[in-house]
Amino acid sequence: MTGDRALPVNDERALREAVIATALAMNAAGINRGKSGNVSARWRDAAFDGFLITPTGIPYAQTAPEQIVAMNLQGTARGTMVPSSEWRFHRDIYVARADAQAIVHTHAPFATSIACLRRGIPPFHYMVAVAGGKDIRCAPYATFGTQELSDCTLEALDGRRACLLANHGMIAIGPSLEQALALAVEVETLAEMYWRAMQIGEPVQLSAGEMDVVLEKFRTYGQPRTIPEH
Ligand SMILES: [Zn+2]
Repeated sequence: MTGDRALPVNDERALREAVIATALAMNAAGINRGKSGNVSARWRDAAFDGFLITPTGIPYAQTAPEQIVAMNLQGTARGTMVPSSEWRFHRDIYVARADAQAIVHTHAPFATSIACLRRGIPPFHYMVAVAGGKDIRCAPYATFGTQELSDCTLEALDGRRACLLANHGMIAIGPSLEQALALAVEVETLAEMYWRAMQIGEPVQLSAGEMDVVLEKFRTYGQPRTIPEH
């Protein structure tokens, strides 16, 4: 991970470009396809407190920095572009979670397949702790773009940095766009391994005690804001 070594993004134009680059990287990494999914980053300056989010309906490869939508924490968008239909959970996460500086939402194939069973990812592998807890929850189903979905999402993210969304996809949050994207890739990797293991049998789950050990090691592992590389 290079996220913590990257220079801080200190101007709005650069952050808009980084949001687009993250959306393109999300698709290039195979964790999202087409125009589904969305990406945002918190943005504050003297006159603004909110976030920058991908617009609705424009392929990421054709999205220009000025088309990224600035939205304040009251949910009011600046300019004429329409934000992603999922702006509500982005807004609500930024309001509720000081640790969220960036949000990546994808319809990653394996994570979404698990979510279509309305299952979360249990502690079948110690790296499940990368999302901040002993499992990765699946939020109950609610229609996309609704306040109900946002409420369900916040609950599933309680004490976590990622969750699945039933019959929909997944969300990862982080202290930077790079870290949120890296976590989304990690969650999809875990979902794929869980799915593969389930083809052969029922994966053996680690005990709560074992997961406590892992969570403690992660808390003290290297630089605390990076995803462990083991
Ligand atoms: Zn979605």
